[in-house]
Amino acid sequence: MSVNFDVVIIGAGPAGLRCAEVLSKSELSVIVLEKKSVAGPKVCAGGITAKDLRLLNIPDSIFEKTINKARLYSPHFTCNTDLGVPVVYMVNRADFGQWQLSLINSRNVTVRTNAKVTSVTGEYVEVNGNERIKYKYLVGADGAVSVVRRYLKLPVEKRLATFQYRIPVDNPPDRIEIYMHSRYFKAWYAWVFPHEKELVVGCGANPGIYPPKKLKQQFHRWLNKQGFDVSKAKYESFPISYDYRGYRFGNRFLAGEAAGLASGLTGEGIFQALVSGEEVAKTIIDPDYHSEAMDDLLRYNKIQHRVLAFLLKAGIFRNLVFDLIVWLMHLKPVNRYITKGFSGAG
Ligand SMILES: Cc1cc2nc3c(=O)[nH]c(=O)nc-3n(C[C@H](O)[C@H](O)[C@H](O)COP(=O)(O)OP(=O)(O)OC[C@H]3O[C@@H](n4cnc5c(N)ncnc54)[C@H](O)[C@@H]3O)c2cc1C
Repeated sequence: MSVNFDVVIIGAGPAGLRCAEVLSKSELSVIVLEKKSVAGPKVCAGGITAKDLRLLNIPDSIFEKTINKARLYSPHFTCNTDLGVPVVYMVNRADFGQWQLSLINSRNVTVRTNAKVTSVTGEYVEVNGNERIKYKYLVGADGAVSVVRRYLKLPVEKRLATFQYRIPVDNPPDRIEIYMHSRYFKAWYAWVFPHEKELVVGCGANPGIYPPKKLKQQFHRWLNKQGFDVSKAKYESFPISYDYRGYRFGNRFLAGEAAGLASGLTGEGIFQALVSGEEVAKTIIDPDYHSEAMDDLLRYNKIQHRVLAFLLKAGIFRNLVFDLIVWLMHLKPVNRYITKGFSGAG
């Protein structure tokens, strides 16, 4: 048995749901296929920035915490920053997904959960191994391990292996913390993100450059040194893809991490998923549409990847660079420039 839809979107993450929301204002028939039993939950530190708020009118009720302050650590310096305006907003991914879902007009959009796409062909996708859905346009919004990307024969060579703990705490502080130390994290960093009743503490690195086993070992040494008790914490791990090789392939599209649009430097990917999901939808509605937002997004990612390349090249001088960054962050204009560059705030 097979059914037809104008657009089949695989994945109900930020990219797929944003794409469906924009398409729900068109006359196209759309189906979103999500393998999980609910849309939303995902291994993530849950930090979104002022950039995301400019895209979507996210209600305050979605935020577990609104963060003005950050504390940055390098091997020899610490810097506290307070821009006086929100820099990062903490969300629970399950709530964020359900809120995105509520924005979709169900007149022409069907969202199906427990619907795992098991194979992709040029005409249809197969769901749960036994059902065919034909498409005119196919959107792979299925994250870092994308079945559509695999079908398009696009490898993923640039990715981050990540490890994080969700540590229950009574009163999480109202600031995020970033730790840069080459001995533990090479060119990357560790994050401490406060949520309503927990701290999300994690790190990531490219496994081709820093073997995951070694990173995990160093992460645990660092957790010990910082005094984090992870005995009651929930452990999580999931890859992040930053291997961008295009998003438009005839009538097939990739959005978000399926397109490798996350930042290889910070691991940020929700903003990129929202932008690309929206832009893919606009391109399907009007094939002549030129996406300036995608141009801006690719420029934004390119800058981050240049910084990462520089930090990787810095080798034995990397800790000096981290010290210099944190020391310079004491200067207000530098602080404002860097914070604004990453978060869009201020
Ligand atoms: C440890 C960690 C911390 C992170 N922290 C942050 C952060 O603080 N801020 C930030 O901006 N980004 C963060 N990210 C990155 C962010 O989570 C992702 O970039 C973002 O979720 C990408 O959105 P997406 O819609 O492209 O994909 P996803 O959110 O991965 O959604 C893809 C969806 O597709 C579904 N799917 C996959 N395969 C199939 C299939 N075959 N059939 C049907 N459905 C399928 C999945 O179940 C999933 O729901 C973090 C990532 C990790 C791993």
